[in-house]
Amino acid sequence: MSDARKFAEQLIDFCYASPTAFHAVAATRALLEKNKFQRLEEGDEWKIKAGGRYFVVRNDSALLAFVAGSKPVNASGFRIIGSHTDSPCFRIKPAPEMVAEEKYLKLNTEVYGGPILSTWFDRPLAIAGRVVCRSAEALNPSVKLVNIARPVCVIPNIAIHMNPDANNGFVPNKQTDLLPMLGQINQKLEEKGYLVGLLAKELKVKAADILDFDLFLYEYEKGSLIGAREEFISAGRIDNLGSVLASVSALCEVKKPAATCVVAAFDHEECGSSTRQGADSEILAELLERVVIATGGGRSDYFRALARSFIVSCDGAHAVHPNMGGKADPTSRPMLNGGVVIKLSANRSYTSDAVSGAAFMQVCEKAGVRVQRFVNRSDMRGGSTIGPISSTHVGIASVDVGIPMLAMHSIRELCGVEDNMSMFKALLEFYNC
Ligand code: ZN
Repeated sequence: MSDARKFAEQLIDFCYASPTAFHAVAATRALLEKNKFQRLEEGDEWKIKAGGRYFVVRNDSALLAFVAGSKPVNASGFRIIGSHTDSPCFRIKPAPEMVAEEKYLKLNTEVYGGPILSTWFDRPLAIAGRVVCRSAEALNPSVKLVNIARPVCVIPNIAIHMNPDANNGFVPNKQTDLLPMLGQINQKLEEKGYLVGLLAKELKVKAADILDFDLFLYEYEKGSLIGAREEFISAGRIDNLGSVLASVSALCEVKKPAATCVVAAFDHEECGSSTRQGADSEILAELLERVVIATGGGRSDYFRALARSFIVSCDGAHAVHPNMGGKADPTSRPMLNGGVVIKLSANRSYTSDAVSGAAFMQVCEKAGVRVQRFVNRSDMRGGSTIGPISSTHVGIASVDVGIPMLAMHSIRELCGVEDNMSMFKALLEFYNC
């Protein structure tokens, strides 16, 4: 089996093991611990050794990891790769049970981020997230990850006979048309606490001890390779778990780097990054400064280190669509399996410029990886990403890159087998150069 195919299968497994940002962090932690990374607590004094491997977790949903460089940070700076752990989906609201026709039990949900809503209809759906239980210390409740990895809900479509606009621009209402059905109940009495009962059984805790939860729906079906030669990957959450896996895998492979190599996997990119574990917080700046302090440096060493640092902001890029080529820019046309993509925007929704782009191109050249470029059509606004947010906070030169993909924000996204391997190789080269 080729290395690219092995890595693609690893990505499919990683996406399936990571139905929520909490699970993405848990899966990443497992990978890091297998590779001898040691956890640091934000509340402790840090001791860092050259060549040491460490990681920090915030809110169970963002993770920063690093390998301390052999040279002092004020001389060699940081090599940082940014990504995000969250993906668009449905979040279950508090007191979620609703009964329709005295028989159907539905869950009240709200939309998280910008999913393609139509892709969520008629799919077997599972539930995952974290459940928070009673504990001895009031300010420190007990947190448990939960993954009900069974097809427990579905959002049924309405028959086209009752919705003649089904193929004619039908816009589902987020409050009324998209609620998942969890089952059928016999009596009205069953409705209250039905979900909590399910959670209690799953976690083997008392229902009365469950105080709250952060729960999300996800597609029960696992991702797969697709195409006559299995050249594509079809899976949920490739945006942006593809970048998380490529960057963490590169960090695990780094051997005695001169510069300190960092992975920053933020949460909440899909809703604007403005949380304490999002890119629009001081989480990255604080980590970098603490590394400087823990290796004996001061404030001036911190600023000298920032000036010598570089960020690769890694997030999904759009490939040209086979049926809708007209939606892409007329001259920059990224293809699946055509190599990694540098993203550019005149109005700076991406950080890349000629200098940071050229730097990344040289990295790719050394790694033997092909490079493509993405720009929006001039009459389209396009999306945003963590690059401009995180680089603005720390003032570090940055480039926005990603693997080309189709169906971004669908319940199942599509990318190329070769491109994931290419991204891993480019990121490893970035750490080593
Ligand atoms: Zn993304």
